[in-house]
Amino acid sequence: MAPRDVPGAPPGARELTALFAPLRFAVRQEEAGLARLAGLGSTVRGAVERARLAGAEPAAALDRIAAAGLGLDGLPPGKRLAAVCQIAADLGTLVPLPADLELLARRGRIPASPAAPEGRVPSPPAHVASASPPKVPSSDRVGRVERRQRLATPLAAVPAVHPAPRALLEERGRLTVESALEFLPRAWQDRTVVRRASELRTGESAIAVVTVRTVRSQRMRSGKPMLKVGTADGSTRLDLVFFNAPPWRQKQFTPGEQVLVSGEVGEGFGGIRQMAQPEVEKLGEGDSANFGRIVPVYPGPADYQHPALRKLMKRLVEEYAPLVVEELPAQIRERRGLLGRAEAIAQAHFPPAGTDLLRAAARATEPFRRLAFEELFFLQLALALRRRGVRREPGIAFDASPAARAAARAPIPFTFTKAQERAFAEIAADMGRPEPMNRLLQGDVGSGKTAVAFAAAMLAVRSGWQAAIMAPTEILAEQHARTLRGWLTGSGVELALVGSQSRGRGQKEARAALASGRAGIAVGTHALLEEGVAFSRLGFVVVDEQHRFGVLQRATLMSKGVRPDVLVMTATPIPRTLALAFYGDLDQSKIDELPPGRTPVETRVFRESQRKRVLEAARRELEAGRQVYVVYPLVEESEKSDLADATSGAEELRRELAPFEVALLHGRMKGDEKEAVMSRFRAGEARVLVSTTVIEVGVDVPNATVMIVEHAERFGLSQLHQLRGRVGRGAARSQCLLVTGGAGAGGDARERLRTMVATQDGFEIARADLRIRGPGEMLGTRQAGQPIFEVADLYRDEAILDEAREDAMRLAEEDPELSRPGNEATREALERWSSRLSLARVG
Ligand code: ADP
Ligand code: MG
Repeated sequence: MAPRDVPGAPPGARELTALFAPLRFAVRQEEAGLARLAGLGSTVRGAVERARLAGAEPAAALDRIAAAGLGLDGLPPGKRLAAVCQIAADLGTLVPLPADLELLARRGRIPASPAAPEGRVPSPPAHVASASPPKVPSSDRVGRVERRQRLATPLAAVPAVHPAPRALLEERGRLTVESALEFLPRAWQDRTVVRRASELRTGESAIAVVTVRTVRSQRMRSGKPMLKVGTADGSTRLDLVFFNAPPWRQKQFTPGEQVLVSGEVGEGFGGIRQMAQPEVEKLGEGDSANFGRIVPVYPGPADYQHPALRKLMKRLVEEYAPLVVEELPAQIRERRGLLGRAEAIAQAHFPPAGTDLLRAAARATEPFRRLAFEELFFLQLALALRRRGVRREPGIAFDASPAARAAARAPIPFTFTKAQERAFAEIAADMGRPEPMNRLLQGDVGSGKTAVAFAAAMLAVRSGWQAAIMAPTEILAEQHARTLRGWLTGSGVELALVGSQSRGRGQKEARAALASGRAGIAVGTHALLEEGVAFSRLGFVVVDEQHRFGVLQRATLMSKGVRPDVLVMTATPIPRTLALAFYGDLDQSKIDELPPGRTPVETRVFRESQRKRVLEAARRELEAGRQVYVVYPLVEESEKSDLADATSGAEELRRELAPFEVALLHGRMKGDEKEAVMSRFRAGEARVLVSTTVIEVGVDVPNATVMIVEHAERFGLSQLHQLRGRVGRGAARSQCLLVTGGAGAGGDARERLRTMVATQDGFEIARADLRIRGPGEMLGTRQAGQPIFEVADLYRDEAILDEAREDAMRLAEEDPELSRPGNEATREALERWSSRLSLARVG
């Protein structure tokens, strides 16, 4: 032991020289090759804290030592020595070192290698890695199966877990150790630097070590109980205030004891500094989960719940993260410089000292890059393997010769745009091959997808097969049927419109025509999926506006044929990342050009109070012979109220826009009623069409030049874009007038409306939509509150997606069975990921 208060020794010297023995011990352990070293890290940090209290200086050196102490215990032997040398070097700047330690210190002073470039840090410098968790025991020591079993331990079965933090995890569906480890923080606080109370400034968040002086229960003026703990650091006072403190809180404090406190510094009576509701921990309780490191903040739990939650998490990270199974092939991990899964999880919870917390909060740090990569990789691998599987099944080879193509297009009364031309050529080439086609046709609203799909359907029909075109709404199915029947006049090809069974005799005939094979083309809604609908030779399926259909529905339709070719059409352009992520198994064609003669649509936003101007604009167009749409939002909880909105809206408009005829269309109408209204509007008899969102998709009345959207703030971006696509179909100038309701538009809604005004480019709108809403909702597959990815963000992680995709495709080519040595864990993981990402899609 160092003597007490050696004359002339700097403040804190006694506390620091106490470290000499443990450091020597560590070096001997190192030389003996022992795998783990218990407790050195907390010994180091405890000593630093005590030295600080005793007034040791400079703070920077103390900070460095404390940081190196973090996680020191978990370092693998090779790195541990480097960290110890580093500590010795810093220690040498504070106190004179004995000879043996001076030798170590010299090694620690050798300048570190130059900082690694941003982004990729394959092996971080020793002091940064020092907070990484205990290294994974090599997989042969504990087998994968056993490790997975241990990770699947229910939290309830982990001994000595405090029930409160466990409940916080269980409430969030984190029932096992593994799922708890996958519960990632949303932010972090840097608590590596401990301040002196005298250094605290009002308004800042800080940590300090203070000595408890008094503990008093009081009542506030309101009568509510309050606990006031008077503390001090030297001559500086700091009061801790707790409102509604439970009994255990009072027991937490014993006068004379030193505690670490963290919170926002305020000012109380007489200018005495205080912290309200601070986090508190006894000094020297060992390696703390809450102090002396960067600490996690989890999404959901309150501040006061965090200390216990962090403790539990730290324990889980230490005991179980090392068991986490590496599921990425080693080659890929090396090629991309990715952290191991175990390290990534550990560092995501407890980042190493020196981590840039802003980047961490943006999930742009290495652990998150690794975790995002993994999610995207397994999705891409599943898609790549499935695509490979589909390719190898036998399919139909339709006649797609140039002559057949020309004949298939002949009924269409206009020339294809270049983009349509290209898409059709791609589709036809696929159809000509004896493999099943699985293709996505993307194109903005009104870009002419239907015509291309029709030509493709005709290829199938002319080769002797039946084609089915599935639309999302009856109105749209009817519109397709009408258009296509017009084109088919005189061709001898019969089209059957399949509606719901309840529509009577016509339906029986339609179904009979399909079952016998007399009708070559079927058009319908999900009614096409009903059991009573049978085909004699279904060879080609078009699914329009696919994101409205569930996965299973598409599979059902496909099962009605012998492995038919499938064309999925989407009117909402999907951003590249989303398309790659979720349709990576589909080949893709894109129509990125509108048919000639379209005019841009002028878009403006109005408040409810400005509706006179909206009406004036509408009346001007009506007087010029044009037609107008007015759309009300569908209110999900109460169909009644949106019906009421639309109904009363229509009535008002009848008065305001007299003498022009105003027709009303809503979702509660029967099919023939709807059809009657639509045909009056199409014929130009009704001049204004008021409706709930039923016209959202596909109606085509080129004479309509005004789209008024009521309560525009309630619509999604892609819905608004679709609605706007209903106008601007003729040569005349068109307008889209977005009216916001009483409350106006806030937050996301304002951003949506701004985007609408700023651009008409469907892909740009889709990107904005992805940013605002996230992919799950965009695809319509999200179950409430459940994101598709835990970490990956398709808006942010485009570059990672590209890498993951490339690696997944390569692996699927090289080892499609994933049977090569080293790929076993990847194969095991694939199944789990497939179900987690709900990959039960087409095929
Ligand atoms: P989408 O299904 O992509 O929304 P549609 O196929 O319904 O688009 O086409 C929108 C409108 O444009 C329809 O009236 C259609 O007849 C017309 N159209 C499509 N392609 C062309 C073209 N190449 N030339 C002229 N009009 C076209
Ligand atoms: Mg369409």
